Amino acid sequence: MENNEVLGRKGPSRRAFLSASAVTAVAAPIVSHAAPAGAAPAGAAVAGTGSALTGRGPSGDLRALLRQVDPARIQATVLRLTQFGTRHTASSQTDPVRGIGAATAWVFEQMQAIAATSSGHMTVQKQTFVQPVSNRIPVPTTITNVIATLQGTASPQRFYVVTGHLDSRVTDVLDFTSDAPGADDDASGVAVVLELARIFATRQFPGTLVFATVAGEEQGLYGSTFMAQQMAAAGNDVQGMFSNDIVGASQAWDGTKPDPFTVRLFVEGIPTAVTSSQISIMQAAGGENDGARRLCRHQHHHAHLERQPRAQPGQVRGVIRETTSPDWTDVINVGSVTTVTLDIAKDNVQFGLRAVDSAGNRSPVAFPGVVTS
Ligand SMILES: [Zn+2]
Repeated sequence: MENNEVLGRKGPSRRAFLSASAVTAVAAPIVSHAAPAGAAPAGAAVAGTGSALTGRGPSGDLRALLRQVDPARIQATVLRLTQFGTRHTASSQTDPVRGIGAATAWVFEQMQAIAATSSGHMTVQKQTFVQPVSNRIPVPTTITNVIATLQGTASPQRFYVVTGHLDSRVTDVLDFTSDAPGADDDASGVAVVLELARIFATRQFPGTLVFATVAGEEQGLYGSTFMAQQMAAAGNDVQGMFSNDIVGASQAWDGTKPDPFTVRLFVEGIPTAVTSSQISIMQAAGGENDGARRLCRHQHHHAHLERQPRAQPGQVRGVIRETTSPDWTDVINVGSVTTVTLDIAKDNVQFGLRAVDSAGNRSPVAFPGVVTS
């Protein structure tokens, strides 16, 4: 585990880890009135405007998909990965049994076998580059990501990315010869990536899904950074990314017992790609990027996200929360419009817009007027 693992943090990628911005073109500014004199307190203002936002459980499709998750297969993958002895980034690239090279070859084989079930919709590549010398890379080192891409059907330029890191380490990050089985950190994440790829491969989704094992993580996030740079250079619209690192740990780093139902969510406060005029809107509305709020709370699942619709007129909802609330609480059906005036005080609440399709699938929430992609 490397702290602050962020896809695109160092590169030109427009959106960081789990940054979502889906609603897009219809997200014209919500024009809000200033609070009238004697306005009710924030709670009352909201309650009088929208209806309570209720959670949405997994759809039947998603439940069927989740039932296919095979714990025994995940466990077998973790065990197999520990048998490479070490997967240290500087370990052997050529030894057929021990080291990062053998582990990479094995993952590539697994991915290829999975892709073979996809009727040609999933492709697998080894993404290799040479990382120059740095403080944790004593000699120029070949680093290889293994990337399975399930091509989207309707909007393939829209990407969701799932990763785990293949490399492992012992306490001394430069020690590449000692055994470093890395069952939890991060064979567990790789096992999740492979299992999700297996389950998703036989299905098709509107957007493109990427299942990747990244390497060079313990040396400084090199694999994921390179992948993010490549995706940015290719113009991929990465709307969300799930990094699986130490999955299912029974203890947190500080010895506390983690809440198994919590997913950590990282969003750029000000998205990298916004223009100065868009920043002005954000400043005027008093908000940052709320796009990914609810993106993966409550065990929202990847498939669920992928089913989320793009906005079209007639399918737009406004969502509202108190400035002190961590989550959206109220919803207003905006209807077939691209601009709407809400009679509530913008000083009291945060706004967002999302698309909703006829099946009730909801897009991630976009900040009004900011996202234009
Ligand atoms: Zn890790």
